[in-house]
Amino acid sequence: MAHAGNIPLKMPSLRVSHPFTSMKRREFIKKSIRQVGGIMLAPSLITACAKDELPNKTVIVIGAGISGLAAARKLKARGFQVIVLEAQDRVGGRLRSNRSLGIAFDEGASWIHGVNGNPISTLAQQAGMNTLVSADDDFAAYDLGGAPISESVFSDTEDAFYQMLETLKQSGSADKSFETVFLEQYPQLANDRLWRFFLSTYVTFDLGDLNKVSSLLYDEGEEYGGVEKIATNGYDTIPQYLASGLDVRLNERVTAVDYSGSQIKVTHNGTESTADFVIVSVPLGVLKNNSIQFTPALPAQKQTAIDKIGMSCVNKFLLTWDQAFWDDKFFLIYTPEIKDKFNYFVNVKKLHPNVNALMTFAYADYGRQTETMSDAEVIAAIMGHLRDMYGSQIPDPTRLLRTKWSTNENAYGAYSFTAVGTEMRHFEDLAEELQDKLFFAGEHTEVDYFSTAHGAWLSGEREAQKIIDLL
Ligand SMILES: Cc1cc2nc3c(=O)[nH]c(=O)nc-3n(C[C@H](O)[C@H](O)[C@H](O)COP(=O)(O)OP(=O)(O)OC[C@H]3O[C@@H](n4cnc5c(N)ncnc54)[C@H](O)[C@@H]3O)c2cc1C
Repeated sequence: MAHAGNIPLKMPSLRVSHPFTSMKRREFIKKSIRQVGGIMLAPSLITACAKDELPNKTVIVIGAGISGLAAARKLKARGFQVIVLEAQDRVGGRLRSNRSLGIAFDEGASWIHGVNGNPISTLAQQAGMNTLVSADDDFAAYDLGGAPISESVFSDTEDAFYQMLETLKQSGSADKSFETVFLEQYPQLANDRLWRFFLSTYVTFDLGDLNKVSSLLYDEGEEYGGVEKIATNGYDTIPQYLASGLDVRLNERVTAVDYSGSQIKVTHNGTESTADFVIVSVPLGVLKNNSIQFTPALPAQKQTAIDKIGMSCVNKFLLTWDQAFWDDKFFLIYTPEIKDKFNYFVNVKKLHPNVNALMTFAYADYGRQTETMSDAEVIAAIMGHLRDMYGSQIPDPTRLLRTKWSTNENAYGAYSFTAVGTEMRHFEDLAEELQDKLFFAGEHTEVDYFSTAHGAWLSGEREAQKIIDLL
């Protein structure tokens, strides 16, 4: 495990990076030239398409997240006539920044996970996304009653935790979850709050529900080296940069894709448009929800992959106060009885010295539960933890911003993970093109870097290249 031993605290990356195996990615690109028909776009789309002449092929990209934008940009640069249909009123998808409180609250991705060789590092520079190195070992940790957890207890437990991660897989099996095997192997740790914290923030946050993550595949995937960086002026800076110059149609929700003929018909807001190629870059949760009707139905292999790969839930909460009452540390840690509940806080003051704000998280089933709670109930739950840490006299926050990713119709979850029943080939099945005209991008199609912003970017580049190679 790349993190083990060499990094003292890996709070924000929480990408239990997946280093044991180096997956051999299937060769997707097909070189043969395929027959493609002419274009028949809806009237509103014709004008834009008529301008370009080479290679005289049209592409509709469904979804203006980073994967769709990466594909659209590459294809446009190659001379394709590209239109991006996006259901929301903005680009970016899960790279979404809420600036209503004067600072950028990243509702989706916040971190660049490992800057070395990471395409997001380059994009951030090009787009003007400012970042700060995550000070992973700058933290204060508290147990119930506000009892401080010493650095040595914390780091000894963390070392033991990493050891466990190294070996758990040996006892794993295809039909057992991480949680099941962990409890079989370490029953004495079932009620240990610090262990539960690590399970929650290092496994559930990073990968998905502990009782659903595969005990065999929890460490799959690759990662970049180098420090973790957190965006300070908004991760959406990148998709906004990528979208400039592209023909992105906002508020266009796609409901049907008919790929039975030589031209693909795409139904959006009741209008039908056609194109030579279509790239579907909507999230796995949207595919699971059958929000888009495919004709003919997607092949069994792809449908199985959609069903088997998991979609996690991570919700984020930003709270502001007139004055800070917390430690002057980058991260604040709390070990509550209830798992996955507001157990880790980012001190936003470290990113924005003039702003008194904390960002906290809820994962998995507790994260889903928060989506049914009122703002007042959420604040009460968070304040219960903060008052236990800092005393009953601290005031309620002045403002709250929050996400509801699992019920968000544009995502239905946070990111993909290797659930029990997943096989790594399922990620490849999700990426498999159909009839050399219907293509699939998105973080969930990237077998090496699934669940990340960089994985999504790579998937868009990959699908664009497949189409280019068909010419
Ligand atoms: C809470 C959270 C924290 C995260 N933290 C990190 C992190 O720190 N670092 C990191 O690298 N990654 C992180 N990620 C993952 C990262 O954000 C995603 O992997 C990446 O943004 C996905 O990009 P995408 O293009 O695959 O999908 P999306 O960004 O979801 O784009 C898909 C687009 O399709 C649109 N769409 C959906 N349905 C339709 C439809 N029917 N018609 C038209 N358009 C449609 C959506 O509106 C969306 O714009 C996080 C994600 C979440 C949710």
